Amino acid sequence: ETQIVWLRRDLRMADNPALYEAAKRGPVVAVYVLDDDRASTHAYGGASRWWLHHSLEALQNSFASRHAKIVLRRGDAVEHLLQIAEETGAKTIHANRHFEPWWRNAEKTLGEKIDLERYDDANFLTVMGSIKTGTGGQYKIYTPFSRAVRSQYPPRDELPEPETLSSPETYPESDDIADWKLLPSKPDWAAGMRDFWKVGEAAAHERLEWWETHVDDYDDKRNFPSVEKTSRLSPHLHFGEITPVQIWHHFKHKRSKGWDTYESELIWRDYAQNTVAQFPLYARDNYREDFDKIKWRDPETDEKAAKDLKKWQQGRTGYPIVDAGMRELWQTGWMHNRVRMITASFLIKHLLIDWRHGEQWFWDTLVDADYASNATNWQWTAGTGVDSNMFVRIMAPLSQSEKFDSAAYIRKYVPELAGLDEPYIHDPEEFGRLPKAYPPKMIAHKEARERALAAYKAMKDD
Ligand code: FAD
Repeated sequence: ETQIVWLRRDLRMADNPALYEAAKRGPVVAVYVLDDDRASTHAYGGASRWWLHHSLEALQNSFASRHAKIVLRRGDAVEHLLQIAEETGAKTIHANRHFEPWWRNAEKTLGEKIDLERYDDANFLTVMGSIKTGTGGQYKIYTPFSRAVRSQYPPRDELPEPETLSSPETYPESDDIADWKLLPSKPDWAAGMRDFWKVGEAAAHERLEWWETHVDDYDDKRNFPSVEKTSRLSPHLHFGEITPVQIWHHFKHKRSKGWDTYESELIWRDYAQNTVAQFPLYARDNYREDFDKIKWRDPETDEKAAKDLKKWQQGRTGYPIVDAGMRELWQTGWMHNRVRMITASFLIKHLLIDWRHGEQWFWDTLVDADYASNATNWQWTAGTGVDSNMFVRIMAPLSQSEKFDSAAYIRKYVPELAGLDEPYIHDPEEFGRLPKAYPPKMIAHKEARERALAAYKAMKDD
């Protein structure tokens, strides 16, 4: 009997529980549905669409090498899946579970109409919801959560690629991926991304091999954006080209301080997902409701705030480290984690603009844009989340830039400043060395800090 596999963020052959199980039971029809309406505000943005195109193509090739196909459809995922089930006579749909609110709704609707076999443990180190506090509740704070995760190790065994992948006699009709127009045409903004990334399952494993020779430096070097000392596996993980379980087993015999710290970051990924599993609208609502009263500068009603938001997006703030980060993001679809924290903090506190505007910009421009990780990190930076940095702890971009040796990074992404040495490059205006092509600071650090603290105090007094 034909088995349907519903692919979403699990674009791989190996360690894919849904595919593995389905392949054991019969001929497989794998289906990917581009369902923008269902995701609504979180339909994939430009950068993710670029990645998705290449990732699906890579997986199509893997299927083709086994004489199998992926059926592509666009529109309502539930309707397409039910229609394909009817057409193929399939009685079961296999799907790795996903926790974005729109996918949870879709799984619920689909499960009421057909046998939906869901696999809980596909894309994370832990089974979501299984890590319980001593009293049986869910963790909200990272540190005890991570301790509990580590106490449950090892994670499940990794699964091999299915040994055989038999095909049905005929496949249901499929879209041609080119018709989805996921790639930019004019203007073609993806050149920087093409240089920076190799997409797909094989590329993810190549990157893992590379990472094995660098992971030992991770603890010391991960905060320095000028060097390539983080894994850059995030988009591969988001699209499920590789799983954290595979990464864990890969490093099983190689434990070092670097690996230990790296593992904590992988646990942050589970933690973010665990938060969203508890609070599905985390990308929309402040967890701490008192922040609903803060008087943000609103780009929708305030022209100056709209201009400021644009300058931040374009990397024209006059703060070199912020601008380097925002331009790295635009060119490559990725930004170093330390700089994500600096740029996010700058938007929220220096510009006093609601974090949700930043969340949306990152959503559109990151190749690793991830509903849970993005929302959790934005709420953390804003001080509005479950487990948060305090709002009143305001990052000073200029001293962060010096502390983390960002000169080479700035030179790379802000060519107007490439001729400047240290320490001038971190704050050219202060040293009277502002090049003509580079803007002065849009707001002084001290003034921004006072404005943010005053807004916070007004919210508290309200
Ligand atoms: P590494 O340093 O090599 O870390 C390994 C893996 O651990 C990453 O690939 C990622 O999957 C996970 N990870 C690391 N840090 C975090 C973290 N703080 N939270 C959750 N998972 C983490 N990460 C995303 O994957 N998608 C996002 O949309 C996203 N938005 C962010 C927004 C802001 C404002 C901030 C401050 C951080 C955001 N992050 C996001 C987290 C982090 O910056 C990236 O995961 C990391 O930079 C990816 O690069 P890497 O693969 O080299 O990470």
